[in-house]
Amino acid sequence: MEQQHLLNLVEEHGSPLYVYDANVIEAQYKRMANAFSSVDNLRINYAVKANTNLAILKVLKSLGSGVDAVSIQEVQLCLKAGFTTEQIFYTPSGISFEEVEKAVDLGVQITLDNLSILERFGNTYPDIPVCLRINPHVMAGGNHKISVGHIDSKFGISIYQIKNIKEVIAKTGTIINGIHMHTGSDIYNIDAFVQATEILLDVVKEFEHIEFVDFGSGFKVPYKEGDNETNIERMGEQISERFNQFCVEYGKDLTLIFEPGKFLVSASGNLLTQVNVVKPTPNIVFVGVDSGLNHLIRPMMYDAYHHITNVTNSNDSEQKVYSVVGYICENDTFGHNRKMNKVSEGDILRIHNAGAYSFSMSSNYNSRYRTAEVMTYKGKDYLIRERETFEDLLKNQVEITL
Ligand SMILES: *Cc1c(COP(=O)(O)O)cnc(C)c1O
Repeated sequence: MEQQHLLNLVEEHGSPLYVYDANVIEAQYKRMANAFSSVDNLRINYAVKANTNLAILKVLKSLGSGVDAVSIQEVQLCLKAGFTTEQIFYTPSGISFEEVEKAVDLGVQITLDNLSILERFGNTYPDIPVCLRINPHVMAGGNHKISVGHIDSKFGISIYQIKNIKEVIAKTGTIINGIHMHTGSDIYNIDAFVQATEILLDVVKEFEHIEFVDFGSGFKVPYKEGDNETNIERMGEQISERFNQFCVEYGKDLTLIFEPGKFLVSASGNLLTQVNVVKPTPNIVFVGVDSGLNHLIRPMMYDAYHHITNVTNSNDSEQKVYSVVGYICENDTFGHNRKMNKVSEGDILRIHNAGAYSFSMSSNYNSRYRTAEVMTYKGKDYLIRERETFEDLLKNQVEITL
């Protein structure tokens, strides 16, 4: 996005501000669809937890995307955004049977990741086919906080428990219509994915009524210049070929599903924030901005790198080194020792790649308001969320008299 455009949006809507370029989402969606174009039945189910704004959901719906929802509330948001029940795949982990019942009432495709729930489900709803989340026990993902497919992960039913699954479904008569895995986030190495694919396809062979195979997601996106990313085109070629061959072996045209979150929305997002103070100390020049881990927790939670640029000063002949920190009473740091165009108080900084797990993980910590959000798409700007007000902080508090 153009610098001036970003500055105008902050002028109009205030700082801090999330701005999404939905043209980027569209390009990423098409890139993924193209990479797997040789598969007849492909579904891309956007993992909505990455960014649940209804406007973003509507853009993805218009592109033909389905959705992956991990809570009943996400299912409700997707229905609100206009997705049909056939387009909603519900893939929760460790939830109560009561929540599963609600998903049944809403009529969405359910994935279960627990043997005891599978048994209860089969006894209660013998006629509803269900998908199983399998844990393939491969180590994949950017770091251990976001690896969810390894042997000690809470997710999925272990591939070593296929026998137990079969015992349960023999008892209940449940039809397994899909097999699912999701091994983590930030997976750069295609080989780990291909290895997990083979394991998953072996599981598919164990069941007769499979209609779809869901490979989850976890594609890595570049966070800085020169950063690597999952080679989606090469992966598309490899997995498509293997999948098509497998459909022949299985004797049925299965549907191939992916559930990208980050890949679709990360690069579209920016957090724009104004510089409150420039604070030189003996070792470090701090830049303190009017935002913090309450608005973007990824650097603190995952040690995630987010590129930061100075939107106000485009003169790159006067670069300096800064540490960009938040206004929360914690060591909230957006970036250490970053080379940026000279920063002055009042400048607007742009924190890049803030479209995924950014606003959706934000909070009111330190009693700060969550930001407004703006989306730009096909030459038009839309305010898609108002900034919070003091009323929002009080909303559910119950005042008592002592
Ligand atoms: C979070 C999640 C995804 C998306 O992961 P990304 O790394 O954002 O692509 C997909 N599937 C499931 C089940 C998830 O929980």
